[in-house]
Amino acid sequence: MNLVLFGPPGAGKGTQAKLLTQSRGLPQLSTGDMLRAAIAAETALGLECKAIMDRGDLVSDAIVIGIIAERLNEPDCTNGAIFDGFPRTIAQAEALDRLLEGMGEKIDLAIELKVNDESLLQRSENRVKEMLAGGQSPRADDTPETLRNRLAVYYRNTAPLIAYYENAGKLKGVDGMAPIAQVAASVRALIDAVP
Ligand code: AMP
Repeated sequence: MNLVLFGPPGAGKGTQAKLLTQSRGLPQLSTGDMLRAAIAAETALGLECKAIMDRGDLVSDAIVIGIIAERLNEPDCTNGAIFDGFPRTIAQAEALDRLLEGMGEKIDLAIELKVNDESLLQRSENRVKEMLAGGQSPRADDTPETLRNRLAVYYRNTAPLIAYYENAGKLKGVDGMAPIAQVAASVRALIDAVP
């Protein structure tokens, strides 16, 4: 099972991907996590991407396609994967289709987590407050200004994936405003309904 989880920043993709990793044993392939790990390790890739990510812009298609291509070669991806935050552009979606085709696989399902902008801004503010209260530093791109840019980038570059996966007959939508457990149950039901 290869599943794409997409939706605006803060929609709960990472939370749902982690729950699915536990319940289905599929690896979570989060390009955001991989890029943050590169920044923390101060690799050349991390240095190249840090300023772009801090602004809330997208790093180049070539970079993220490259890291996903490498990651898909690892043995834990044999039975599929949960793509979290990738693809984010049509070019990435096409590249992912080609990569999977080369492995004799395909995307089985693309789930759009739907959450309104107002709630996303509220969720981000809450997350920052919680982290500060817990003595942790919030993500550099989790400020209200950057979140507004990340949302604009989402609508411009990533929302076209809705039509892309709809045309491929793979799109399902889930109400991401529901409580986490309810969203997780809806996601599991959609996966179980895949022929
Ligand atoms: P995320 O953790 O998925 O919200 O990603 C954090 C940031 O990493 C994004 O705002 C982008 O700057 C970068 N990023 C993550 N995934 C991608 C992707 N598929 N394409 C381009 N940039 C990405």
